[in-house]
Amino acid sequence: MAAESRDADKVLEQLRAYRSHDAPTHGGRVLSYVYDSGRADLDEVAAQAMRLLQPVNGLDPTTFPSVALMESDLVEFGRAMLHGPTATGSVTSGGTESCLLAVKAARDLWVGRGGSGRPRLVLSASTHAAFHKAAHYFGLDVVVVPVDVESGRAPASALVEALGPQVALVVVSAPSYPHGVIDAVAEVAGAAADAGIPCHVDACVGGWVLPWWEAAGGDPLPQWDFRVRGVSSISADIHKYGYVPKGASLLLFADGELDLARYFAITDWLGYPVVNPTMLGTRSATSLAAAWAVVQTLGEDGYAVLARRVVAATSAVVAAVEGIDGLRVQGDRQGPLVAVATDESVEPGRQVDPLLWVAGVAERGFVLQGQPAMAQADGTIVPHTAHLTITPVTEGLLGELVPALVAAADAVRGHALPSPEALSQNGIPDPVALADGARAGGDLDLTTVLMLIETLPREASAQLLSAFLQRFTAPRG
Ligand SMILES: *Cc1c(COP(=O)(O)O)cnc(C)c1O
Repeated sequence: MAAESRDADKVLEQLRAYRSHDAPTHGGRVLSYVYDSGRADLDEVAAQAMRLLQPVNGLDPTTFPSVALMESDLVEFGRAMLHGPTATGSVTSGGTESCLLAVKAARDLWVGRGGSGRPRLVLSASTHAAFHKAAHYFGLDVVVVPVDVESGRAPASALVEALGPQVALVVVSAPSYPHGVIDAVAEVAGAAADAGIPCHVDACVGGWVLPWWEAAGGDPLPQWDFRVRGVSSISADIHKYGYVPKGASLLLFADGELDLARYFAITDWLGYPVVNPTMLGTRSATSLAAAWAVVQTLGEDGYAVLARRVVAATSAVVAAVEGIDGLRVQGDRQGPLVAVATDESVEPGRQVDPLLWVAGVAERGFVLQGQPAMAQADGTIVPHTAHLTITPVTEGLLGELVPALVAAADAVRGHALPSPEALSQNGIPDPVALADGARAGGDLDLTTVLMLIETLPREASAQLLSAFLQRFTAPRG
């Protein structure tokens, strides 16, 4: 980092050099993190919209009414999409912020209605980590209901049993991120409504693709949106299957009272009166503008066309995995996410370990996401898996992707992962050394990292990851 002033073109040249280290964001070779529509015109309209709004402060929509206009247009689009004609809400910076705010609103409503002691948040083991973060930030106790290992879904009866007067919110997913499974939304939301407890549907990943799924030729889905009695809020990330640049999620509430509990307002200080509908104060309006512009450009019909490509590509990937000896699709999945586990019904010599498979697929040019195994509170173990997020551009790449999936499985079939004993013989790796190795350009051995997460106590692995990232992002001098 140079401390003296420099020419802008030199600065940008360096930025391009930095960017050259990144995984490809376009073209479909990374099957997580990025959601490529395959339409360059959307990137272009987003870039122009961001530039237009670059100097605006989203803090105050009365001074900058464009912020309110764009947001209300997106909420209106979301109302139709999620079948909540009177829903209200906001555009947030992303899924995590939407989840945090859903929990904050429910907690404040619970306290406002006379709840005392610690409020509870009822989740499944498959519920996104953002809800654990919310509980941590906002002082709720988490109740985690184990999933049925085979289906990947927490039994509705177990979630309903966890409800009670301390419960501020119950969360279901449509679908869950790890295995792409849609929870028992109707059963849980209905029982929650009977008990006077809000129910949040986390459709962060599914919210902008499931509405078009059936019309696009996908399998029929159970209802999961505001049509379901008892659904009180929904998060739906625009920066996933809405195909907009990162930094945009939609959070809608069925009920104005709950929605209002999301706000933070204070007049009790020396400065300007503060009213914040979301977590930040001063905020950029660029992501909002990009989201607005892309959604306007695509329209419902544009999303329907893209959904058809996702449905077709997902069916092809599922069929390919089912045809690979030693692998199987994990859970009762629906929608565009696929998790792949070892098929333990075949003899060990024919089994394929998904973490080794992920490494083999990477050698063949595609990045899948490894997910560690986890022992649940009821003693059952959810196996480790490989996760694939299917996007419209996957369709055009099937001719390369499917052979890579097959060849990687052939290469690692019958191979065993290093045993936990072998791993612990080397001791717990030093996170600083791991980070320095990765920074020096060495590839991070993700298989080993996931194995460590499976082997170490969860607290220890979480600390190790924090120390790793602290070092990875530290100044390099
Ligand atoms: C991505 C995701 C989130 C969190 O969203 P971010 O945008 O990564 O903050 C929450 N829930 C589900 C189901 C998700 O897929």
